[in-house]
Amino acid sequence: MLEKNEIKVQNLTRFYTLALLKSKKSVTGYYVLKRLEADLGKTASPTYVYDFLKKLKSEGFIKDVQIPKSKRSGGYQLTPLGSKFVDRIFTRFDNLIEVAIQSKLKICASCGVKLYDNFYVEKIGGKELIFCCEHCAMAYKNFNHNH
Ligand SMILES: [Zn+2]
Repeated sequence: MLEKNEIKVQNLTRFYTLALLKSKKSVTGYYVLKRLEADLGKTASPTYVYDFLKKLKSEGFIKDVQIPKSKRSGGYQLTPLGSKFVDRIFTRFDNLIEVAIQSKLKICASCGVKLYDNFYVEKIGGKELIFCCEHCAMAYKNFNHNH
């Protein structure tokens, strides 16, 4: 469910920023930029990342972490409200990823089982057909031969 005025997480930079916030005790904008580059080979604009963090902060989703005995900020961490927000976003992405995987699924032409990566291809009647195994291909051939 999309809530009104909810911060949009419409790209990988934002999504990854949230993923880092969720998995780390605290993150800085600099850290996010470094990880984007190291993990995804993505050079994000610092302004864009800092603006997004600022926005999250203004919504009360993240808060500053102070390093004890230091004036430096240790970065940001998720608030309970922010955690809920991130979980909501992640659930939505889970669904999207599920749809994406489903659309890539192959289906055995004989038994109809879903195939993720291992499948058996055989050309039958000039058409390339996909099966879960050669036995299914055989069964398919026999069936179509007899009918
Ligand atoms: Zn099969």
